[in-house]
Amino acid sequence: MEVKYRSTRGDQTEYTASQAVLQGLAKDGGLFVPDRIPALDCPMAELAELSYQETAYEVMKRFLTDYTEEELKACIRAAYDEKFDTPEIVPVVKKDGAYYLELFHGATIAFKDMALSILPHLMVTAARKNQCKNEIVILTATSGDTGKAAMAGFADVPGTRIIVFYPQDGVSPIQEKQMVTQKGDNTAVVAIRGNFDDAQSGVKRIFADEELGDKMKAAGFQFSSANSINIGRLVPQVVYYVYAYAKLLKAGEIQDNEVVNVTVPTGNFGNILAAYYAKQMGVPIGKLICASNENKVLFDFFSTGTYDRNRPFVLTSSPSMDILISSNLERLIFQIASENDREEACRVDASFMKQLTETGAYTITDAMKERLGDFYGNYATEAETAGAIRRMYEKEGYVMDTHTAVASCVYEKYVNETKDTAKTMIASTASPYKFARSVMEALGEACVGKDDFQLVDELERLSGVIVPKAVEEIRTAPVRHTRVCDAENMKEEVCQILGIH
Ligand SMILES: *Cc1c(COP(=O)(O)O)cnc(C)c1O
Repeated sequence: MEVKYRSTRGDQTEYTASQAVLQGLAKDGGLFVPDRIPALDCPMAELAELSYQETAYEVMKRFLTDYTEEELKACIRAAYDEKFDTPEIVPVVKKDGAYYLELFHGATIAFKDMALSILPHLMVTAARKNQCKNEIVILTATSGDTGKAAMAGFADVPGTRIIVFYPQDGVSPIQEKQMVTQKGDNTAVVAIRGNFDDAQSGVKRIFADEELGDKMKAAGFQFSSANSINIGRLVPQVVYYVYAYAKLLKAGEIQDNEVVNVTVPTGNFGNILAAYYAKQMGVPIGKLICASNENKVLFDFFSTGTYDRNRPFVLTSSPSMDILISSNLERLIFQIASENDREEACRVDASFMKQLTETGAYTITDAMKERLGDFYGNYATEAETAGAIRRMYEKEGYVMDTHTAVASCVYEKYVNETKDTAKTMIASTASPYKFARSVMEALGEACVGKDDFQLVDELERLSGVIVPKAVEEIRTAPVRHTRVCDAENMKEEVCQILGIH
């Protein structure tokens, strides 16, 4: 049965999966949501025998129903290949009593590769299917990892261009170096004077700018998004939860149907939403544990029912989670807004999102709060995060990155608070090499006066894990991108890059 996509905010137009992927964001500013979450009507014991690529096909074909088998399999083949440094694609490792899903074995060593290796293929296929003749301009705001992963995916892909905006002082030195050295004639990178939320809001404003849209069309361009607001990002992220559960079953770590919790270090709420979709497909997932850093807007939301972004923006050692406006939460808000009245859900969602734009806050109803029972939220301070990295290293000799450490720490808080004995999968979202300085500081190593690549070499000696290719290749790479602009001038920057007036 076909799955169709519609906006969370009331526009009733139905889109096929490929049309939703191509467009990125709904015309009314809402996010595309599937009209139902398809069931994973396939025994887990059978899924346990599948490769990552085969699992990806089983999951994605149920969401992306207008892609043919050949199309989808070609996209999957092109995405999950030797770009990953292990044929398992996602190794699941047991450390200190929890299962870590290592989602960082792709080209840019962060979990964004899981979806952004395939999104360009899904998009180019969608363009062909829908007779789209325009050049697709991917506009992306990044808190550090999406930008590089998206450019790695779209670089030199015919018929596409990509423009990335990142907060000038809000990413790690390695993240910045990865972006500004990006090759590809169709790539552009711009540092903005502002934070990630400024970048994301700026991109959303550009999408909504009708006058610009008309000029773009006249010049043969159309925008799309590589952020997790694109359903083509979300669906590939469901795959690894299914895959990891099946692999735990195969390894005899869990029994058939055993309930396992999932802990996710969260920023824009995309990764944890994918886990929620996996649960709704039928994977026996218990609690969805949402881990935040000191930008704990989601912890406060789950505790009080009030989402309030009116607070200082904290720059932390887990910069990819330094976010106060978690875009994908809108999909959850839409889902809990009404039991079965779609129009009502859109009305409620649109009104909250309007309040968020106008006042920076909204409060959900008690009935909505009751539907959040699958979720648990907590956060880790900077000191707690560093402590988690150090303790794990001392206990297991295993080095976690700062984002994964936030999740590890919150999982511990959850167990202490609830005494829940269920097993837990923890999304390990980045290689520690991407945040070498913060990680080495957490391990108590002397860092002052050393450059980041020195620290990378020391981390290699300490962890016994070979420096990934992604880090080696930027060591001496020339800087190719030097654009900087104010957050208010992002639109002008886009016009300049595309040469439209
Ligand atoms: C993007 C990112 C996150 C947050 O994921 P969301 O889907 O935005 O919640 C966490 N950790 C790392 C390393 C990331 O790059």
